Amino acid sequence: MQDEKFDAIVVGAGPAGVAAAITMARAGLQVVILEKGEKPGSKNVMGGILYRHNLEEVVGEAWKEAPIERPMIEEQRWFMTDQAALRLLGHKNFRHREHPNSWSVLRARFDPWFASKAEEAGAFVINETVVENLVVKDGKVVGVATGREGDLFADVVIVCEGIGLGKRLLEKAGLKKPIRANQAAIAVKEIMALDPAKIEERFNCEPGEGCAVECFGASTMGRAGFMFIYTNQDTLSVGGGVLVSDYNGGVVRARDVGRVDHGVFSPNELMEHFKTHPAIKPLLEGAETVEYVAKMIPEAGYKSMPKLFGDGYLVCGDAAMMANPVHREGSNLAMASGRMAGETVIQAKELGDFSERTLSRYKGRVDNSFIGKDMRKYNDAVPLLEQNPEMLGKYPELLDRALDEFFRVDGVSKWEKQSRILKMFAKEGGVKMAWNTAKAAWTMK
Ligand SMILES: Cc1cc2nc3c(=O)[nH]c(=O)nc-3n(C[C@H](O)[C@H](O)[C@H](O)COP(=O)(O)OP(=O)(O)OC[C@H]3O[C@@H](n4cnc5c(N)ncnc54)[C@H](O)[C@@H]3O)c2cc1C
Repeated sequence: MQDEKFDAIVVGAGPAGVAAAITMARAGLQVVILEKGEKPGSKNVMGGILYRHNLEEVVGEAWKEAPIERPMIEEQRWFMTDQAALRLLGHKNFRHREHPNSWSVLRARFDPWFASKAEEAGAFVINETVVENLVVKDGKVVGVATGREGDLFADVVIVCEGIGLGKRLLEKAGLKKPIRANQAAIAVKEIMALDPAKIEERFNCEPGEGCAVECFGASTMGRAGFMFIYTNQDTLSVGGGVLVSDYNGGVVRARDVGRVDHGVFSPNELMEHFKTHPAIKPLLEGAETVEYVAKMIPEAGYKSMPKLFGDGYLVCGDAAMMANPVHREGSNLAMASGRMAGETVIQAKELGDFSERTLSRYKGRVDNSFIGKDMRKYNDAVPLLEQNPEMLGKYPELLDRALDEFFRVDGVSKWEKQSRILKMFAKEGGVKMAWNTAKAAWTMK
């Protein structure tokens, strides 16, 4: 393989890399994917909810064979305080029985299947191969340096290495600035084994159907981020995270934002805090942890994205900081951007031109798609939460106190209760709360 030159080298067999490889291989291009794990999926972490639309765009009808866990029939969003859980949103959507929108997946099962579709299309997948550097000649990326396979060359290298701590390929080559601590979250995830009948009973699901629960507020000790439970076939995916900037030397410092002060805690303690919340504990009763993993998630919107193209290279997915910081979407942006990169390379091949000029068409595709639009739309979402920490601390507490008063039957008249609630909001800065809530609703709509 040493002297071969490929049309395209793809770094990383995650959703972005495999989508790019399938697209190009189907058009007859010579493509190789280099994956550092012993097989695709062995190094990957995700909640994980995967979306049909973007998968179908890449593999067509073959999405029906994908190894999914459960179709998501219900979405729930909870606002939590230490003493209560406010179920703000619940949407049980029976249309998804016939036409699934999303499924829970386990990446260790999904990724090998997805990569097998790239192989079927004619791409080579080489596992256990770490790409150590991009090979740059006269300012153009011409290949990659690997420990195991030596240097490999191609007309274009598509970087789909995901996001992580330490210097990544683009940073080593000076093509991307290091990620700042408020541009990404560190998330932890446990897979917990539980009898399917118990999963269905506890999450009110029909056999084989699933539910996604996401919890804000006290679940993350008031930090920008959320915790989740996703139902799999016979396991639960339990996890969540907060911005890296909220971790200080491995600890998160509590700020005084009107919530219970939890002192300092580690990501692991964040997880334990969530798992022992009175609304969560019974859902996990008897479930056994079979896997524990941690990984980063891009959180900073469009402005954090690096240059997506240059002479001889393109960047997709998490490596390009493409993840929606408000919705839990990442895998779909990765697949869509991989597909768009693949389509751009097919055009470049037809033109016989892999220069920056031709490859810049990729950015046009991204910008005009839901990726560019959503990434721009949510640019200010995380800064808003960072600058107004009371939104996930004090405000849920106030709502909880108001509802406690409202629902409590204690001989006090409803007039008096309403007056008490209004006075409480007035005293605690209700006008600012209304203004901030409107701002948040506008920013995150
Ligand atoms: C806890 C958690 C929960 C999440 N939940 C969801 C969810 O529910 N829904 C959703 O859509 N998204 C979710 N995401 C985000 C989603 O996982 C990512 O957006 C998505 O995986 C990005 O795909 P990717 O292909 O860009 O990168 P990755 O999936 O990270 O794939 C990168 C691949 O590159 C390989 N690689 C890295 N460096 C090298 C190298 N130097 N040489 C060779 N190979 C290399 C890695 O081993 C990996 O296989 C979650 C993320 C986390 C951490």
